[in-house]
Amino acid sequence: MTKDHIAEVKSLEALIGGSFPANLSKLSSSSRTIPTNRDFHSLYKSDEFKRPIDEIARTSQCVLETIGGKKSMTFPGDDDAYESLVKVNDEILEKFDDSIDEFKRNRKMEEDSKKAIDVKVAESNKRFEKHGKAKAPFHLPTITKPQEEYKILVENANKPFDHVLLEKSEDGLRFVHPLEKLSVMDFVDKNLTEIIPVKPLPLEETPFKLVDEVKDLEDLAATLQSVEEFAVDLEHNQYRSFQGLTCLMQISTRTEDYIVDTFKLWDHIGPHLRELFKDPKKKKVMHGADHDIIWLQRDFGIYVCNLFDTGQASRVLKLERKSLEFLLKHYCGVAADKQYQNADWRIRPLPDVMTRYAREDTHYLLYIYDVMRIDLHTMAKEDEQSDSPLVEQAYKGSYDVCMQLYEKELLTGDSYLHTYGVRSGNLNAVQLSIVAGLCEWRDRIARADDESTGYVLPNKTLFDIAKDMPITTAQLRRLLKSKHPYIERNFDAVISVIRRSMQNAAAFEPVVQSLKDWRPETVVEKNIEPKIEKTGTEASSSSLSLKKFSVDDSKKQSSSGFGNLPSKRKLESDKKVKEEVKVSKSKPNEVIIVVDDDDDDDDESYEQSSETADALNRVSETPSNGSLSMTQKPKICNKEIIVLDDDDESENDSESREEEEMRRRSEKHRRFMNMKRGFLNI
Ligand code: AMP
Ligand code: ZN
Ligand code: MN
Repeated sequence: MTKDHIAEVKSLEALIGGSFPANLSKLSSSSRTIPTNRDFHSLYKSDEFKRPIDEIARTSQCVLETIGGKKSMTFPGDDDAYESLVKVNDEILEKFDDSIDEFKRNRKMEEDSKKAIDVKVAESNKRFEKHGKAKAPFHLPTITKPQEEYKILVENANKPFDHVLLEKSEDGLRFVHPLEKLSVMDFVDKNLTEIIPVKPLPLEETPFKLVDEVKDLEDLAATLQSVEEFAVDLEHNQYRSFQGLTCLMQISTRTEDYIVDTFKLWDHIGPHLRELFKDPKKKKVMHGADHDIIWLQRDFGIYVCNLFDTGQASRVLKLERKSLEFLLKHYCGVAADKQYQNADWRIRPLPDVMTRYAREDTHYLLYIYDVMRIDLHTMAKEDEQSDSPLVEQAYKGSYDVCMQLYEKELLTGDSYLHTYGVRSGNLNAVQLSIVAGLCEWRDRIARADDESTGYVLPNKTLFDIAKDMPITTAQLRRLLKSKHPYIERNFDAVISVIRRSMQNAAAFEPVVQSLKDWRPETVVEKNIEPKIEKTGTEASSSSLSLKKFSVDDSKKQSSSGFGNLPSKRKLESDKKVKEEVKVSKSKPNEVIIVVDDDDDDDDESYEQSSETADALNRVSETPSNGSLSMTQKPKICNKEIIVLDDDDESENDSESREEEEMRRRSEKHRRFMNMKRGFLNI
């Protein structure tokens, strides 16, 4: 059907939905009162008869024109009048018939396409459910990459991210966030007496709109223009793209929920929503927004001003937990099902359960914001020092979250040292050289193909290769335990990387030495005063108690420590990094490292689950570490908990002892991660 036809049928639909059927039946019943042929001609001579007949003719013609386009016909006088009137009426009925047929065909087509979508949704639901009874799949390999399907352009070159929309500082050295011109105090609510928490309607009774057309986005922008505050959240995928990709943007006002299909509207989101997010008079409410803030910058050039982060507020309120899940239970009595947090959010159409989950993430936030503000002020009043500072803390926290600027992860000569396992892996120079070579190889591919480094070559496999040092494709093939599309497509290249690295091994001798000096056991031996904390566990499954000590490795890994690195480029950073090495008393060999690049010890708006840790590990294969590199891959929380890689694609096909050992350790870590956060003391 052509565009014009669709437009015609649409106008017909409107006509049929309106007064047309009534008029038509009026017309056809009145036509019965028209006298027969002979009488008509004699009667038509009198004005009394002629007037209503002319009127009927005019109306008929009007109707005909509406149906048949702008064709105009003149009503002939006298003799031909009767025939003409009959003809016009016949034509009307005929055209009407045709149009009804077309309308029916059109409706059928619409229904068919709706059915097709339903089938797709059902398939999508099924595909989704098939993967796990209890857990949403982290990765659906059959999904066409949205970057390709929706022609999303990404800049993965090994160059710093350019915040093209931001001004530069006077010295030209840094970007200036629009918030810099404003102060925290501009955002602290003044008239608190007026806060009456507004409970949201149940999800089922709340209007919901999936925003996937530009027109919908315009409507959404107009709605947001008219409100004082709105809640926002993003869903994201970091496994099948190099820098990560925003998959959904959820927005809730006081009365409506929206989900923006960011893939479909990628280039339109910034232009339509940027000003609203930047508007200092409009409050944006988000939970644990550290990542959302930089994802918005990276993908849409959106810089947020005036944020209330409920994660920051729960910290100031000293709530027992800071996760959204807890806040939902605590303030709204809602038990959220967090199994979708790590789902593959690239799936389209979005399965119903995931739509519901995504809506829940913003639906209650404005209400939580109301109650939290009241609680903050109540708490401040109870506090001896009275009012402001405490309230301000929450706003200061949110302000600082907004001020973060996205930085792209860059490959430097020492990037490989951030790969988990390198420091504790006890590798020799040859192995270390292979690690470096493979890290560089996977980085190059990941950037070019827009994949995560963990997808191209998972850490665990990288280490298996480095330890085994295969020099023929046959050896390499034997070593692989599961499917590795990238290695399989590049056997020869991988082997040549290994061989070249082996030849270059001498350059890594000094690094091996530095690592030996650094190793945690050595720290203990060297009697660096450990800050010992006994932390009990609420998880009865384990009776481990922890000895915890901090190592400020910004000192240990100064350029002199790794001064002889065969590095291409050196970057300095003044950021302090703490790496907490947790040693189990009963099993001192088991070490869990918590990298913390932030002084803030209790910021934790995510509940870390073992799945999360797996997911994290699979994606951020090179845990960022500020002391060695200035650039960081955005992380899920300030503290990066490093556990062993666990590839869910691998079919437990290993009989080797080493593999088994890896799994055993992985399982241990998994259990560890499952324990209450109090145990980890983070
Ligand atoms: P949320 O703010 O909870 O909606 O999470 C936003 C996105 O961050 C999700 O779509 C995931 O990609 C990622 N994410 C959230 N929580 C975790 C977690 N605990 N572990 C790993 N990834 C997470
Ligand atoms: Zn979020
Ligand atoms: Mn969410």
